[in-house]
Amino acid sequence: MTSPAAAPLLFEAVLHPELLAEVRRYSGHALLLSGPARVGKQQLALQIAAQENCLHPHSDGFPCGRCASCRAVLVGAHPDLLGVTPRTTTSTGKVARRRIIPVGAIVEARDDAHDYEQHVYQFLELRPTYRRRVVLVEGAEYLNEQAANALLKLVEEPPHNALFVFTTEDASLVMPTIQSRCARLNVSPLSDQRLLAAWPAAPDPELLAMAAGRAGVLQERDKVEAALQDARMLTEALRSGPLSALEAAEALEKRFDTEWHPQALRFVWRSESPAVRAASDTALERLLGALEVYASPSLSFQVFALDLRAAFGEG
Ligand SMILES: [Zn+2]
Repeated sequence: MTSPAAAPLLFEAVLHPELLAEVRRYSGHALLLSGPARVGKQQLALQIAAQENCLHPHSDGFPCGRCASCRAVLVGAHPDLLGVTPRTTTSTGKVARRRIIPVGAIVEARDDAHDYEQHVYQFLELRPTYRRRVVLVEGAEYLNEQAANALLKLVEEPPHNALFVFTTEDASLVMPTIQSRCARLNVSPLSDQRLLAAWPAAPDPELLAMAAGRAGVLQERDKVEAALQDARMLTEALRSGPLSALEAAEALEKRFDTEWHPQALRFVWRSESPAVRAASDTALERLLGALEVYASPSLSFQVFALDLRAAFGEG
């Protein structure tokens, strides 16, 4: 058995069986999976792709996880599955980095700097190798207007009965033209009991509390535990004096992961008073904003340390 950190638990655990069953009854061409970050949307989308193409599904309809098609999904090399993800644009000057899915992901576009190897149009021209081609658009809120427009006709009448699976953390930010053509599935956090049932080794209670029902947090266990450790160290250092606060901030800068450290810090601060939490959160937002516009990272972390000292009433 492989460890949960290494394996995405793609076929070992169906975390949202009711949604997978709902998809089996759905006869349309476009799904919008909506739910918080790390709740398991991507895993569900891959299970949908596997289910559409499995050669020997279980009697309950779930994909087998062992046939040639399922194995191809597992290793990320399925001929009928195309993944489209946002790219980060870097503008010159002090403009924040923006994530977008440009029209170049959908059709071949001139002067396209984002280099999508395969375009959705081109991908859908071909007949499926197994049963059904699936286009997985991760982060549908990042489709720009041009890209969304280029998709419309395909989503309405996809060649060879293809299926679109869009995922989003916030459905209200997805272009209305796309939203209205999709069946919406809400992917909710699981109960701790259900999450634990899917896990071979029980995670420690703190990790489980931070996961708050999101399977993807447990899948990144090592990174999350390291971020929690860093967050506790910084918070302790704040109270020991300005020098240790600055040192801890410098150490944090070297390891800072914009996905996990902010979550870990907020989690570690959860037992502070509302006033401390609000002020710390403002300091954290300020740091993230500064990093986004490429302000000097070392200076930004020093300011962060001093802001936090003030927030904790130590400044
Ligand atoms: Zn299979």
